[in-house]
Amino acid sequence: MPIRWRLTLFNALAIGGILLVSSLARFFLLRGSLFSGLEDTVRNRAVTAAREVEAGEELDTGDDELTLDGVFIVVRDGRGRVLSRTAELGNGAEDQVWSRALESGRPEGGAAGLPGDGSGYVYAVPVDPASGAARVVEAGKSYEAVEETLDTFAGLLAVVVLFALLLSAIGAYLMARAALSPVEDVVGAAREITAGDLSRRLPVANPKDEIGRLATTVNGLLSRLEAAFARREEALERQRRFAADASHELRTPLTSVIGHARMLDEWALEEDPNRARRSVAAIRREAGRMRTLVESLLALTRGDECPGLEVGRHDLAAVAGEAVQTARDTAEGKVSIEYVTPEHEVWATIDRGRVLQVASILMDNAVKYTPKGGSVVVELREEDGLAAIEVSDTGVGIPEDRLPLVFERFYRADPSRADGGAGLGLSIARQIAGSHGGEIRAESTPGKGSTFTLLLPKKP
Ligand code: ADP
Repeated sequence: MPIRWRLTLFNALAIGGILLVSSLARFFLLRGSLFSGLEDTVRNRAVTAAREVEAGEELDTGDDELTLDGVFIVVRDGRGRVLSRTAELGNGAEDQVWSRALESGRPEGGAAGLPGDGSGYVYAVPVDPASGAARVVEAGKSYEAVEETLDTFAGLLAVVVLFALLLSAIGAYLMARAALSPVEDVVGAAREITAGDLSRRLPVANPKDEIGRLATTVNGLLSRLEAAFARREEALERQRRFAADASHELRTPLTSVIGHARMLDEWALEEDPNRARRSVAAIRREAGRMRTLVESLLALTRGDECPGLEVGRHDLAAVAGEAVQTARDTAEGKVSIEYVTPEHEVWATIDRGRVLQVASILMDNAVKYTPKGGSVVVELREEDGLAAIEVSDTGVGIPEDRLPLVFERFYRADPSRADGGAGLGLSIARQIAGSHGGEIRAESTPGKGSTFTLLLPKKP
């Protein structure tokens, strides 16, 4: 059963119950007061009449004060014979209340059958019960008028209760409908939200009521879902781009290897040994490029999937020194590499192998993008609790608008350069710096040189 109907039913039952109980209480209160009023009247009249009879007065059967409101009075002698009486019903009670009064010598009263088919209240007062001239004065009144009044009251009460019940049921239904109509709006709006369109939100009529809070909570959930979907979409897109770029990068050396192999196979091996040697050298070079590329790709994907580090306390001066030495060996005198060491050791909690890899990437780039005769300066410093390895060169530089892009995977600021790599070095470097809680800053002036700084927290 819908909540609306349940609320209506509950309200109607509750209000109906209250009305019923209060009506019954009213009815019985009225009944009690009418009956006791009638009995009081009858008793008073009986006593008044008995006093008159006792005083030897003749009972005035036309006395209004005695017979008012349909009260009858009967005076009997000691044997029950009627001496005088007032109204039509004045034959007295059929139940002979008077005889009980004569017997007991005390006033007696009670409900009694009356001549005709009615019943009423009768009160009998004995006068001189001990003497031979004993008499009894009997007063009575039919219940008919009281019962009629009660019947009318009960009928009226039933109509009022039914009407109130109907009104309260309609009111409860309308209130429940009004209270629940925002729920219908929310349900309608929620139905229209699909996985493909998470930008829609539920209407919030009053953010402070229960339904408003529910809609706000669902909206929060939708926002989080939307953000999660967007992140997943972005990650998928990055992955797609990465796979496409990687295949593209691998295709060039692979085509070259296949071309040289075919040439060797078809003629060069037998007909032109010199050519054959150059082809083998080219194959080795291209294969080397492919291996470097595949290693870079592996480093990146491993870093993406599991950035776990094998950390230990290491002296950064020694790490940077090792990278400088390797760079000098590779540069073969093409550029000068100066290493400015701090006066003291700089200990940091790092993954030595990976930090060495970052330092090498930065120094390799500096050597690669600095023309012959240029200079590279490597400096190890401490900055606000951070350790900084700064690599400055006097190389070609990077235009300002491309500077933020150099950390993107496969991005090359100048793709025409033959000595450039695949554009993965700085992405790997940034990934490693990030996994240490550090970062890499880049500054550059085209034509003058660049400075790349690796910043690492000394404690993780
Ligand atoms: P790559 O293998 O091409 O060197 P990186 O990710 O290391 O890839 O660098 C991305 C690009 O940033 C390079 O292609 C180059 O254009 C630019 N770059 C990096 N370091 C320097 C530098 N020291 N001087 C000038 N350009 C640089």
